[in-house]
Amino acid sequence: MQVQTVSFECPFCCVTLKMNAHLSLSEENATHYSDGYIEYEDSIRLSRIVQCPACNEVFFYDSLETQPLCNPDEICVDILEPPVDRYFELLKNTGLTSEQELYLRKEIWYYGTHHTVGSNEILNNPDFKNLWLDNLEILEQNLTETDNEQLLLKAEANRHLGRFIRCLELLDKHTGEKDNKYLKTIRKKIRKGSTDVFEV
Ligand SMILES: [Zn+2]
Repeated sequence: MQVQTVSFECPFCCVTLKMNAHLSLSEENATHYSDGYIEYEDSIRLSRIVQCPACNEVFFYDSLETQPLCNPDEICVDILEPPVDRYFELLKNTGLTSEQELYLRKEIWYYGTHHTVGSNEILNNPDFKNLWLDNLEILEQNLTETDNEQLLLKAEANRHLGRFIRCLELLDKHTGEKDNKYLKTIRKKIRKGSTDVFEV
């Protein structure tokens, strides 16, 4: 995967920020998980959500105008990876598009299942854990049954919440290949009562 430095202006305090961004995402050697999470070969996973260290605001950077490099005459500050409480805070932002909200809710889900530090943070804090579960619940409601990709995510969210019957009902609505390994594995996990995410 090719990574390049990009710079952009913080929309809140106008400081010039820089970060590494994907030039292209190579599917080769990428690991896909049953909940839709993708891990790339060099384990660099760059979120679309960043935090400005100057003003501490958290926002989606990908709707901003970015420059391919940092101008040498300018001071560029490295962005921060926002802590999980800021993700929950960002959810309250009414200016998010439905696509951004879906992305954010999925990122919160993955924070608890794929982020080593993040998952400890969530599991050891009952308040966060409740917020995290509420998020998964709302995400599940927002995912549609008409789109096969969203339908499978919805099924996985239900399995994760321990609602195995609902998960199986959703799998039956899948209009693609019925007998694929992915669907079989989900059914097998349910028979074992497992809510674990698995590699696809
Ligand atoms: Zn700022």
